[in-house]
Amino acid sequence: MALGVGLTALRQGAVLGTTALRRRLLVSLEINNKDKSYEWFLAWMAHQAGEPSKGNVALRSAPWVRSHQLSVETTVEQRKNGSSSAAFKLVAGPGNHYINYKGAWMQVKRERETRSMQLMSGVPWETVTLTTLSRDQNLFPQLLSEARELAMRGQEGKLVIHTAWGIEWRPFGQPRQKRPIQSVVLEPGVAQRIESDIKTFLERRQWYADRGIPYRRGYLLHGPPGSGKTSFIQALAGSLSYDICLLNLSERGLADDKLFHLLSNVPERSFVLVEDVDAAFNKRVQTSEDGYQSSVTFSGFLNALDGVASGEERIIFMTTNHVEKLDPALIRPGRVDISELINDASPKQARILFERFYGEGERVAGISNKEVEKISEQLENIVHDEMQNGRRISMAALQGLFIRNNAQEAIATCRDLFTTRTIAPL
Ligand code: ADP
Repeated sequence: MALGVGLTALRQGAVLGTTALRRRLLVSLEINNKDKSYEWFLAWMAHQAGEPSKGNVALRSAPWVRSHQLSVETTVEQRKNGSSSAAFKLVAGPGNHYINYKGAWMQVKRERETRSMQLMSGVPWETVTLTTLSRDQNLFPQLLSEARELAMRGQEGKLVIHTAWGIEWRPFGQPRQKRPIQSVVLEPGVAQRIESDIKTFLERRQWYADRGIPYRRGYLLHGPPGSGKTSFIQALAGSLSYDICLLNLSERGLADDKLFHLLSNVPERSFVLVEDVDAAFNKRVQTSEDGYQSSVTFSGFLNALDGVASGEERIIFMTTNHVEKLDPALIRPGRVDISELINDASPKQARILFERFYGEGERVAGISNKEVEKISEQLENIVHDEMQNGRRISMAALQGLFIRNNAQEAIATCRDLFTTRTIAPL
């Protein structure tokens, strides 16, 4: 019996001893998925494994793959024209992994809490815990800043689009190449008016604060489809190094309280973009394409627009093809400060777009500058004539025409693309 007691005591002692030793010698860092660095860290780990698209070779040489537990993260990017692309990233799955970072071994433990979910977003809680020897703890900040730099490098000079995930904003798809603002050809003066308004607004934070006015600005771009509303907003965001938070009011499961939360927690330096705002509320009840009625109410939307804490910056852009359907309560100052008509192609716009496409000189377009000048003048006259007869063409249709044809073909066939419009003339 004495031996038994002795052995038990010894075993317990050993366990306590190991725990104490662990505590003294090891140091852990916990990152949970509420923190931005969580995504950065997983991406950094995936990066250590090499590009997944390069296949297994890169994976075999990865320092952490010995763990055999991988998860795949797929980002699908759906473009407006219907095409989509998917990118895969292999990240460390739940379980234990070991990495060697600058000569120090680290244990990476990824855990998922299956019993409780994050309130409202429904995403399970996750943590990764990095454990290493105490003497190597100075490597943690280095590793994290490397991970952050990697994440930032991927986004530099790019436009990031966020979408709502429950009550959170998350980057959607890969960061996109910025579009030069001059590539969106609007009526002379329109782009400049919006640009200078927003720049003035951004310089007046203190002015708003001193007067206790909520620091927010709303823009409404209205006009027929394919006139460049969305393209302009994206280009403008890019030129100011802002991101875009795309808000879809018809999204299933979006309710007033979630909307309020989303609009009060927009990531820094982002525009909120609400497209086709008329479709969402034309009858003050909101119906998605398949007839599903979401629980965002019109008054809930107005509340969310107004309810941002003063001092916090909020810039919202709304687009619509039918401004006449909008409730006047939505377009009053404070909610929409600037409203601009972005119309079908005017003669001047058509000419400028034509010159952008074919005016690169003989080398690219196989057409002399003189000829470009001549044909663009013809096009300007055609658009003018057609407008006299109440017929218009969208900028998107012109773009399609110029992509598919050479200059002579484009001018010869363009009249077929004009349609009768009842929309307000210029
Ligand atoms: P909207 O939001 O008004 O429906 P988009 O911005 O989505 O229009 O434009 C659709 C397509 O047409 C884009 O590929 C864009 O490049 C082109 N486009 C439309 N308007 C213009 C414009 N004013 N200048 C240059 N391209 C345009």
